[in-house]
Amino acid sequence: MAENGASPVALELVPALPIPDHLIGEVRSKLAYVDEAIARAEITGDGDHIHLTLHQPIDDARQAQLDEKVQRVVTSMVKGAFRPKVQVLEDHLDRPAPYTQDPMVELLQRGEVSQEIPGVFALGPRLARLMAFFEDRFVELADSFQAPPYRFPTLIPAHYLERVNYFHAFPHSLTFATHLREDLDVIDHFAGQAACDEHGLVAPPASFAQVQALLSPAVCYHLYFSLADRPLPGGQLAATAVGNCFRYEAINLASLERLWNFTMREIIFVGPKDFVLENRETARQRMQPVFKEIGLAYRMESANDPFFIGEFRKQAAFQSAFQLKFEIRARLPFSDSTLAVGSYNYHQDFFGRSLNISLPDGSPAHTGCVAFGLERIAYAFLAQHGLDPANWPQWVREAANG
Ligand code: ATP
Ligand code: ZN
Repeated sequence: MAENGASPVALELVPALPIPDHLIGEVRSKLAYVDEAIARAEITGDGDHIHLTLHQPIDDARQAQLDEKVQRVVTSMVKGAFRPKVQVLEDHLDRPAPYTQDPMVELLQRGEVSQEIPGVFALGPRLARLMAFFEDRFVELADSFQAPPYRFPTLIPAHYLERVNYFHAFPHSLTFATHLREDLDVIDHFAGQAACDEHGLVAPPASFAQVQALLSPAVCYHLYFSLADRPLPGGQLAATAVGNCFRYEAINLASLERLWNFTMREIIFVGPKDFVLENRETARQRMQPVFKEIGLAYRMESANDPFFIGEFRKQAAFQSAFQLKFEIRARLPFSDSTLAVGSYNYHQDFFGRSLNISLPDGSPAHTGCVAFGLERIAYAFLAQHGLDPANWPQWVREAANG
């Protein structure tokens, strides 16, 4: 049953253009942001039909609006799109992965995870220890580059994100932070009246101050901003940090695969182009034996960021043409799919130019980052090896079984 006791209804749409298989996942994930009426969105394997589930019935006028928005998504993402050449740098998908269930079921049963709201989970000792184990491996990688540790805030100023075009590229996934206005009447009223309904907090929107800060969507941005508007000290640098990151993913928020609030460890390189690209490649090579020892079945392949609809086609093609992003995609045996647990990114001189970070010769600095999602890697490991440490590869069993 949906809210207000209304029953969900199915709605089938024919996309204005057939959706090619390489875009089915991308378009499907964007349908989550099309209309609040949508509870579920699926695209058939041949890309010819879109199946929506709506929270409740809608009238013809609303349906016409919804249809128009769906077609807008399809047209802007599909029209003129070309199939990116996927470059595979490593393929270890055939590593033994004896577990075949969705670990989420057992994790929930055992009380190892509990959902606070969709996309927000409390994690128990099994996952916490595994995440700490993976963290140690990534910190070792950072140490191998003599990358010193940094600590960055969870909040990021709105004007920072504006300066790097984030509002344009990823508006759908932003999470805003605000507070009550500094006004005694507003605060008194809130203190007396604030309450929650099934959708969240009920309070007059005018009680809240203008948004100055957001919850940070990535770690590396903070480093780039700390280097802005001056020459890069020493001409090149490596750094590492771990942080809470936030990406609102609407109805796509599911299990530990796609979180609103997750933890990312990044190793970040700033300097000349060759410095960044060589270190990105060295990082890949150094992690190869580590993932082998951990027993992770994965493939490393070229990828693109989930740009919003209007930016998607152009930006994805650009990333693909210049091989700007590679992802470690771990196998999820239970769904016969893969999940990105880490990415190796090269931003060219985008941040150097946008933020005026200069190299000794006066040209803008290049940047790159190696970013691992700690919840995702722990989840993928459990999806492959199960919850019982007796069945884990020896190294993990000895180090992460408390
Ligand atoms: P860039 O700096 O180029 O924008 P990034 O540093 O922001 O990249 P991403 O590639 O976007 O990094 O994400 C890095 C990793 O973070 C992913 O491979 C994944 O493991 C994890 N991650 C990203 N989004 C989520 C999410 N919604 N839930 C859980 N983990 C996530
Ligand atoms: Zn990054």
